[in-house]
Formats: sequence, C-alpha cells, structure tokens
Amino acid sequence: MANFGTHVSVAAGSGCLLALGGWHVGLWTPWQAWPLMLLTTLGGILPDIDSDHSHSVRLVFGLLAFMAAAAGAWVLQSRLAFGHWLLACAGIYIGVRYLLAPAFKRFSVHRGIWHSLLAAMFFGCAGSALSHGVLGQPPELAWAQGLALLAGCLVHLMLDELYSVDLEGARLKRSFGTALKLFDYARPLRAVALLLLMLVMLPWLPSWTSLLGVWHQWLAVW
Ligand SMILES: [Zn+2]
Repeated sequence: MANFGTHVSVAAGSGCLLALGGWHVGLWTPWQAWPLMLLTTLGGILPDIDSDHSHSVRLVFGLLAFMAAAAGAWVLQSRLAFGHWLLACAGIYIGVRYLLAPAFKRFSVHRGIWHSLLAAMFFGCAGSALSHGVLGQPPELAWAQGLALLAGCLVHLMLDELYSVDLEGARLKRSFGTALKLFDYARPLRAVALLLLMLVMLPWLPSWTSLLGVWHQWLAVW
C-alpha cells in the first residue's frame, strides 16, 4: 500500500485540480473552492482511519476534531453566550480527538469496512448531509463537497491497489484486492450497519434533483 505522505500529496494534488478547474469554469467562487480542496485531501486519508499506524490516525482524528469544532462553532454561535459557546467548541474538539479516536481504534479492524467503496459513499453522504442539513449550505455546493470527499477516498483506494502491484518483479503483492473492495466481505453485518446509517442521514441530504444538476454541470465541463 501507498505510504501516508504519498496519500496526502496525491489527494491534495487531485483536490487542487478539482477546485481550480471548477473555479476556472465558474462552478464555484474562490471561497467555495478551497474547502473543496481540503475535503478532497481529507477524503484521501479517511480510509486509513482504522490504520495500525498511529501517525495517520492522529492526523485524521486531529483534522476531524478541528472540523467538528469549527462546524459546532458555526451552528452554536447565535444560540449560546460567548463563554458557553467557547466551552462547547473545546468540548467537541476534546470529545472527537481524545474519546472518539481511542474508542474507534479499539473497535475497528485495519482494512476492514472503512477501507471500502461503501465507506467512501458513506463519507460522501455524511459530508453532504452535514454541509446542507447542519451548516445550511446551498444544495449544489453541499453535493459538491460530499463528492469531493468521495473523490478523495476513491483516489486513496486506487492508489493502495496500484501500490500492491510490484511492477519491477511483475507480480502481485499479497495486499492486492484488499484495498478496492465493495465492503468488508468477512463482516457483512458492518456493511448493513453502514447502510442503515446512510438511510438515517436521508432527511439531511440535499434534494436528488440538485445532485442531478451537479452531475450534468460536471459532465458538461468534462
Ligand atoms: Zn489505505
């Protein structure tokens, strides 16, 4: 599999291309473009959220905690007094970084369900649902942000699969086929749980017609 640095740089490069390309043809403004680049980069490391390497896990959860605190700050700014608002943001950061991360590590298997195409779709849906349903972003932009996360995840999975081909020796390494899979075939119940979570998200997702609109826009640009 590809190492952490390769994942970050390839995902960031893809995110730059997506953000700049869309901005160049007028799909989004510069202010909307840079979060798309960041989301593609985040997507590029998300599948290794269950990695055995503490470095990747620390960075993934550090980024997630920062984004959760920023989203919380945005949503709660008009609802809480300044002191409570500050405490709530700090609480969200600490909760994600120091409680959720160890619990997640305890109950996940490396290259299990999170390293699959189904999880990539889950991350994309979660991104769009959060952006539209919680942060109140316009439907097309929220879909674009979810798709940026999905694109980053797909780049990650493909990169891992590419790295499992030993080109010099022209042979396949043992890891071939473990990166780009539909779901964790050894634990089908986890796939069902993920599908159920996606169903729960449905009310927060933007309309499907707006997704079709985004799809036609991107196709026209392509
Ligand atoms: Zn990986």
